[in-house]
Amino acid sequence: MLLTITTTTDQATDLGFLLHKHPEKVQRFEQSFGTAHVFYPDVGERRCTAALLLDVDPVKLVRTRGRGTPDFALGQYVNDRPYAASSLLASAMANVFRTAMRGRCDARPGLAEAPLPLEVVLPALPCRGGPAQAERFFGPLGWDVSAEPVPLDPEFGDWGDSRYVTLTLTGQVRLADALNQLYVLLPVLDDAKHYWLAPDEVDKLIRSGEGWLAAHPDRNAITRRYLANRRGLVRAALGRLADTEDAPEDALDPVEQEPEGEVRVSLAEHRAQAVIQALRDEDARRVIDLGCGSGKLLARLVQDDFFTEVTGTDVSYRAIEHATRRLERSRRAGAPFQGALTYADERFQGYDAAVLMEVVEHIDPPRLPAVERVVFGHAAPRVVVVTTPNAEHNVRYDGLAPGAMRHPDHRFEWTRAEFRAWADRVAAAHGYRVRYVPVGDDDPEVGAPTQMGVFTR
Ligand code: SAH
Repeated sequence: MLLTITTTTDQATDLGFLLHKHPEKVQRFEQSFGTAHVFYPDVGERRCTAALLLDVDPVKLVRTRGRGTPDFALGQYVNDRPYAASSLLASAMANVFRTAMRGRCDARPGLAEAPLPLEVVLPALPCRGGPAQAERFFGPLGWDVSAEPVPLDPEFGDWGDSRYVTLTLTGQVRLADALNQLYVLLPVLDDAKHYWLAPDEVDKLIRSGEGWLAAHPDRNAITRRYLANRRGLVRAALGRLADTEDAPEDALDPVEQEPEGEVRVSLAEHRAQAVIQALRDEDARRVIDLGCGSGKLLARLVQDDFFTEVTGTDVSYRAIEHATRRLERSRRAGAPFQGALTYADERFQGYDAAVLMEVVEHIDPPRLPAVERVVFGHAAPRVVVVTTPNAEHNVRYDGLAPGAMRHPDHRFEWTRAEFRAWADRVAAAHGYRVRYVPVGDDDPEVGAPTQMGVFTR
């Protein structure tokens, strides 16, 4: 199988930095099912192409069935895997381009963050559902998609087309996003019935889907196919996607569905309602949302006449752009602004309440004391509402590996006791009292999925 990635920037050879593979070298990477080669067929200042060639060894593939190979139950020896094994290519990509897929590039950090002009070509991609399916999955991600059916035999036109396409994607996309999209969507398009599902497959999907899958119009179909239709895993994955920052408002949380299939409100919805209720209970009408993300809570607050002044801040510029767009037409909203909770900032002052909804767990523990000082010591509003996941509840999520966290960017997830210990200490240090409210289904054994602390001065 062959995958090529081309970029056409002013310094196209920077692709080597981004992929962490030197353009002048030909490298081999042994896989449990064959050998991956990385080389650059074209290295120019204006145009640079990297190729990943996967040589599948059918004998190795059979011998290593089970652990370690993503495609263990395939027909022995005679199958199309050596030429068209999407799940194997995806798995080789994850091994060979691991750092690039995380979006890390110390040598060129700006470039790793930026959308680049890219062209991705897969000469023979198994594509169930035909070219239209490739368009449906890649199109909404900002790619120009060309999927040309490969004839069964070019000598015999009337035999018709094979189930393979030559796929060419062109677009302005972050390289890490492109790699993660391919990682998920190649096996999804192949839809080979029996590829190996590792226990952490849901985690992998959430991690690779970050920033694009939750908002994809076909996220349900993609998730189902990726997880080979295992119902428990699919439900767990869709639930976690619905709870991510980039999920659309209408993403229902199937984890929270009644057994009879009656859909109830998502955890995100529960959380927003709980925060709003806490603010009402404390008569806090002027509110700043600290770490507001794309501004979903802000959008609700400005629609509620109870609240008279509302704004938000976030360290992410992209988040602020989203939030600004959401609040454009509201009179009660102050413009959301970029800011870091680790630095005292006068703009955080003067509100009745500050909300930190699902934010503390994104802060590196060594920086948390700075955030405490800034929020409770310096901004010091009358009310502070903090929500964070309850780690004990994670055992209720199918497909979440033991000890794993719900989101790849979480730096920690607290048990109820850990949250209380933190909140009690912070409250005492800054002259607040704190009460605790479970949010979501309060499980008798492991508690609610979300925990909330309402601090009052
Ligand atoms: N409150 C939103 C977003 C939660 S995601 C919601 O519940 O939907 C966590 C957010 O915290 C992200 O948008 C992230 O950019 C922001 N964040 C993380 N560290 C931050 C910091 N030090 N200062 C400000 N915002 C931060």
